[in-house]
Order: sequence, then structure tokens, then C-alpha cells
Amino acid sequence: MTPEVVVVGAGPVGLTLAIDLGRRGVRCTLVEKKPAPEFLPKMERCNARTMEIFRRMGLADRIRAAGLDRRVPMDVYVALAMNEPPLLRLPYPSVAEAEAQIAACNDGSMPREPYQLISQYTLEPQLKAAAEQLPSVAVRFGVEFMSLTQDVGGVTATVRDAEGRTEAIRAQYLVGCDGGASPVRRQLGIQLRGEGNLLRLHQALYHAPDLFDRIPMENGPGRGRHYHIADDRATFLIMQDSTKHWTLHATVDQPEEMAAQFERTIGVPVPYEMLYVGEWKQNLLLADGYGAGRVFLAGDSIHLVIPTGGLGMNMGVADAIDLSWKLQATLRGWGGPNLLASYEVERRQVGDRNVGASRYASLGRRKWRSQYRPNIRDATPEGQATRDHLAAVANVEQRKTNEMIGAELGYRYVGSPIIWDEPGGPEHLFREYVPTTWPGARLPHVWLREGCSVHDVIGDGFTLLRLGRSRADTTGLERAMHARHAPFTVMTIDEPAPRDVYGCDLILLRPDLHVVWRGNAAPSDPAQVAAVATGH
Ligand SMILES: Cc1cc2nc3c(=O)[nH]c(=O)nc-3n(C[C@H](O)[C@H](O)[C@H](O)COP(=O)(O)OP(=O)(O)OC[C@H]3O[C@@H](n4cnc5c(N)ncnc54)[C@H](O)[C@@H]3O)c2cc1C
Repeated sequence: MTPEVVVVGAGPVGLTLAIDLGRRGVRCTLVEKKPAPEFLPKMERCNARTMEIFRRMGLADRIRAAGLDRRVPMDVYVALAMNEPPLLRLPYPSVAEAEAQIAACNDGSMPREPYQLISQYTLEPQLKAAAEQLPSVAVRFGVEFMSLTQDVGGVTATVRDAEGRTEAIRAQYLVGCDGGASPVRRQLGIQLRGEGNLLRLHQALYHAPDLFDRIPMENGPGRGRHYHIADDRATFLIMQDSTKHWTLHATVDQPEEMAAQFERTIGVPVPYEMLYVGEWKQNLLLADGYGAGRVFLAGDSIHLVIPTGGLGMNMGVADAIDLSWKLQATLRGWGGPNLLASYEVERRQVGDRNVGASRYASLGRRKWRSQYRPNIRDATPEGQATRDHLAAVANVEQRKTNEMIGAELGYRYVGSPIIWDEPGGPEHLFREYVPTTWPGARLPHVWLREGCSVHDVIGDGFTLLRLGRSRADTTGLERAMHARHAPFTVMTIDEPAPRDVYGCDLILLRPDLHVVWRGNAAPSDPAQVAAVATGH
């Protein structure tokens, strides 16, 4: 199979891109230098927007089945140890509770899907299996990207297999999803800029099969997702999706100290095995460019954020989804030159805002941690005052990490050449999501009937929504979109709820559910709207 696109790197971003290209019938080869997915701790929360994306790709159910049990709470604690009463509990709903909240709400403020806790080492094999099922995707592990050359007709990647054999793969486009060290980005000469190496921490992974059941429910913090230990080592315990695996982060000097640190943190004696320990660095970095010529970059190769806020992988998944339909459209001949050019315009502004959101959240965490005093465990009025004060500051500052719904759902592409310009528009808020159909925004989720959202009835091409029993004559726009040979559907929805939330009668949506154009009457220049939408 001759690929049309080569994807370098089978992390969550490269796998998502390969699957979405494959669903769209684009022939694609995915090369990954590792022989197989690794069982190493990294990300563990797919946010609501990522789950909406996975739903549209038909993957949400299998990811939920592989991830954390839907009944387990996602609470976050600040504590001295797991066997002591918490200093602070921030309650967050389990998936089952969040689904019930979403089912009961129809004002557009909620996502179609709640978040899902799934460890990256569980997610990647799920995505790999899904990619391998697609006939137009070749998944090649144990194949390392070495170098590339590009010319007007395509890109040639030189790769090397585990036996040291090299091979040239020719394709029209190449996408580097090859992580923070990105050899593809380096080859393009694109720099990451910002604040590097802000904090060095050790991270360890433990198998402690009894711990979850042994967490004291009354005197201990109780069951949840994150346990921040109020100490001077930034100690942070994370429950992984099986509830039998846990990771601990701490600023200890030596890796061997991570065993004692774990025992101090959990307080209760339970059998455990330390499976891995390593060092990692916190960065806030953004690439100068998101590609060059026929080569694009996505995920950690172009943005590295601190996991506070959980924006890293989630932002990369959204990069992949922005790029895949534009590659498809260009390869199939109906996409104009502005489509691929818009990738950097749209996604780099999100990268920039999310680096800011991550900084904001991590400064919050640093602030409450700086309230630590050595007397925090003392049974004295002074010790109590330290505990009370730290908890009060954390009650404000820790929320900045866990409550990022605006950054997750509210991103809107501003100044994009493929979005109809409607000057102004709502502000980008990290913490708050205000539903809007301003051009460039993600279409808010609204129920049509029980269990069926507007999102669920929209297909993979462009869609013109006709709402509120609109009588507008849209045949001009329909003709103009068909003349561009773009996949296009008109969808009439008579139910009042979507019209009420969306605030207008006509909305033109792109394949990724972002609004291109909206109005109450048909556009006065439908050919121009169609040209903008399709990148001409
Ligand atoms: C402790 C921690 C917690 C985190 N928690 C979260 C969270 O809760 N939510 C969140 O969204 N993000 C989180 N993140 C960030 C998240 O893990 C990353 O953003 C994510 O892994 C990026 O995915 P990626 O596919 O872009 O890159 P990677 O996962 O780094 O994948 C890149 C792939 O490219 C391969 N590769 C590299 N070079 C080559 C080559 N030359 N040839 C072929 N293949 C190559 C690599 O082997 C790798 O498999 C966390 C990160 C850390 C460290």
C-alpha cells in the first residue's frame, strides 16, 4: 500500500490521527520506534472534549470499558497521609454521576461526554488495536524515523527497522507526532520556546492491589483520584485506571527514596511492588511553527505543558482532529490551499492559550504548597493554624488545576482563513464554559431527545443546520457547497432546544463540529461562504 500520509510516532496523538485518517479513507502509514506500547505512567485523564472526539470516532465505549470503573469518584484530596483525615476534599463526580448531570441539563453548558480516567498505558493499546483494524492504515512498530526530504510532489521519509535495515517511504504528507524530543521538528529547524526545566521530579509506578480497598473511608481521605500530600516535597499520589496501580511524584534526591516516600504517603501497610521509577521535568514550551511545507507537527512535538490542568495529550488529540479532515480534503481535491495553512493559525493559538492555562494552574498549586510549615503535623494551636491556612489557600488555588472546563470546551478559532469573520466574540475563559455558536467555536451539545444529541446526528462532512423552522432559502449555499465537491448535508431540526441555545436559524459546521458561518437569513454571497469553508 502506498501511503498518502506518513505519521511518525504512535503515542496517543499519532494513533488518533492515524485512526481518523483511516476512517476517512486516507491511506496512512504509522511508524513507531518502540517495538510495542510500554507500560509506563504518563497521562490518565481524557477530558470531556477528547471523549466527545472519541465518541465521533466510535471509540468512546471501548475506552470507557478499558478505563476506570464508571462508579468510582474523581475526588481530589489534600492530606497529610492516606490514613489521616484530609485537610481538604474537592468532590468531582464519577463518570456515572457526571452522565446523570449531563442527561438532566439542556442549556448547552455541558459536554456530550464526561471525562474518563484511563491510563496512557491502557489507552495506547486500545488505540493501536483500533488503528490496526482499519484497512487503509499500516501500523508499523519497531520502525524508527531517521530523516526526511520534501519536494513539490511529496515527502520521502527514511526509516530504520530493528535489524538496522533502512527504507524510504514516499507520501504526499508527513506528520510528526513524535513527542517532546521530536526528531521531525528538529529536522525542520523549528524551536520550542518558553520556560523549560521548571521543576525536576521523580515519578514511580506501584502495583498495590489492596490499597484501594484499604483506604480508610471515615478517618482517611476516602476514595478519589488524586491525593496531594501537604509536605515540602511536592508529593502527589495518583490512582491509575485499574485502582490497583498508583503513581507517586515527589522531589526526592534519589530514585531509591521513592519506596519510603510511598509508604509514608499511604500510611497503611499494604503489599506493593515498585514497577518503575524515573525522572521527569516540567516545561511550558510552544513551537515557533506547526510545520513546514508538506510536513506538519502535532501533540507534544509542538507544545509541552505541565500536567496541571491535564491539557497535554488532550490538546494533542484536538490537533490531530483539526488536521485529519484538512489532509483528507486536500488529498481528495476539494480542499483549497487555506485549509492546511489554517492548521497552524487555529491550533497554535490554542497551544499558546493552554500554555498560559497550565502556568496559571501550576502557579496556583505552587501557592498553596508554599503555605507548608514544618509544624504542620504538630498537635498545637500553631500546627492547627498551619493546617487550616494551607487548606483554605488550597481550596482556592487547587481548583485552578481541576476546573478547566473553559479551556477544554471553549476554545474558538480566531482569525482563521477558513472561518467566516464575525468581529468580536466572547473571551476565552479557562475556568468557565459559556456556550456559543460564534464562528470558530465548537458547537455546544444539546439534547434532541433522551440519549441523542445534536452532535450524534451530524456526519463527518460539512453540515448546514436549519433550526427553528427556518424558511430561509438556502439553495444558493447548497449549490455553492456542491460546486466545491465538498461532502455536505443539510439537516433540519425542528425541536426548539437547539434553536434556543444556538441563537440563530442557520449554522454551517465543519467536519470537526466547529462553526464556519451562522445567520438567520441565507448568506448574501453563498459562493464566498463555500469558498472560505473549503479553504479557497
Ligand atoms: C506525569 C505526567 C502526567 C500527565 N498527565 C496528563 C493528563 O492527565 N492529561 C493530559 O492530557 N496529558 C497528560 N500528560 C501529558 C501527556 O502524557 C502527553 O501530552 C502525551 O503523551 C503526548 O502525546 P504525543 O502522542 O504527542 O507524544 P508521546 O506520547 O510522547 O508519543 C510520541 C511517540 O513518538 C515516538 N517516537 C519518537 N521519536 C520517534 C522516531 N524517530 N521514530 C518513530 N517514533 C518515534 C515515541 O516512541 C512515542 O511513542 C502527562 C504527562 C506526564 C509526564
